Amino acid sequence: MADLLALSSRIIDERVLDEPVNRVTQELSEIGDGVAVVESFSHSAVLRTDAGAVAFDASHKSTGADVADAIAGWSDVPVTHLVYTHGHIDHVGGSGAFAERWGDLEVIGHERVAARFERYRATNDWNVDINTRQFGGIRQDMGLMLVESDDEAMARWRRFLPDTTLWPTIEVHDAHEFVVGDERIELHHDRGETDDHLWAWLPERKVIMAGDFLIWNFPNAGNPQKVQRFPIEWAAALRRMASFEPELLVPAHGLPISGASRIRTVLHTVADALDALVDEVVAMMNGGAKLDEIVHTVRVPDDTLALPYLRPLYDEPEFVVRNVWRQFGGWWDGAASRLKPAPDAAVGAVVAELAGGTAPLLERAKRALDDGDVRLASHLADFAGWAAPDDPEVHAERADIYLRRRKLESSLMSKGIFAAAARESQVIVDGHAST
Ligand SMILES: [Zn+2]
Repeated sequence: MADLLALSSRIIDERVLDEPVNRVTQELSEIGDGVAVVESFSHSAVLRTDAGAVAFDASHKSTGADVADAIAGWSDVPVTHLVYTHGHIDHVGGSGAFAERWGDLEVIGHERVAARFERYRATNDWNVDINTRQFGGIRQDMGLMLVESDDEAMARWRRFLPDTTLWPTIEVHDAHEFVVGDERIELHHDRGETDDHLWAWLPERKVIMAGDFLIWNFPNAGNPQKVQRFPIEWAAALRRMASFEPELLVPAHGLPISGASRIRTVLHTVADALDALVDEVVAMMNGGAKLDEIVHTVRVPDDTLALPYLRPLYDEPEFVVRNVWRQFGGWWDGAASRLKPAPDAAVGAVVAELAGGTAPLLERAKRALDDGDVRLASHLADFAGWAAPDDPEVHAERADIYLRRRKLESSLMSKGIFAAAARESQVIVDGHAST
């Protein structure tokens, strides 16, 4: 068993940056008497009592059976209760495997989990697409198993929410308390990454199961392809957790953390980073700024982003800025032409005409890239691509520009979208080569 608490203490206290913190091993580690975590994508945290075990999340469909095996190898009592910290598929998708092993489970989730599941069914293909894109820009050897290219895996992915997923049998509104054996478990609802989030407080043990309120990355409160997220409430939830003075904090991604003062520091530091960003955006909105100005002004300090639990490797602050704008301002960014814009193809065609063709546009794009202005390079590459939608040479250049950009980005979300842009152009190149 790994000593996860020693590892997290060392990483936080000494600011270690070269050790993986989001480990996907499918292995169980005990982190307290009767408390364990299986590191997966996402984790399953487990509380063992005399009368049964309580699991917090079931991981993804592809890992549920391994996670259940790991729990069964440690717990001499069956899992009787499964708590969903929220309804994301990497937290609920493994529930079918839990039911296969332990039969009828009490499944406890927030009352909006069911609505989320309904939404996943109504927008199934869209969700398959956006998640393929989101996770498609990283190496596939990370054990995430969220995107695979073989047919069997894709067939599984076409059903975004697995059919075997258990629906909550107990729905929580704002809070819920239950007892298993002689353990009391309090569940609290707060919005943050999602509108259906719960976190657990075990008062006798001073333990918090934090779900995705802490992910050992900059909070993914900005995801460009997903529904609204709630950075203000997220920060408030972290402060609320800190007010309980937990001595052990078990997130659903990344390492568990021990020690009251260490936990307090982490919770407040993440909350402070979110609050500062939100305050700046709202102040600029109140001051009449447009989204363009806000996006290019608001920054999270580099030393904050260098903390081992706040690196922008998954989501990034710029996307959180946009989510705040969307939460309070709607989708229009304040540029008049973009309220009712011309088709991209028409804009691209005219820009290419003015430039004297797509070649000068692509030349200028490459120069921008060489000068380090990847943002400008991408605009120019898109204009050229739109102006010449079937031209393999133009799209070979566009693919190259986006592949170079992918390498320069830190976040999984940016890498995924830019890799998808390159693939989109590569399809045009390949289509031409085969005819
Ligand atoms: Zn998660």
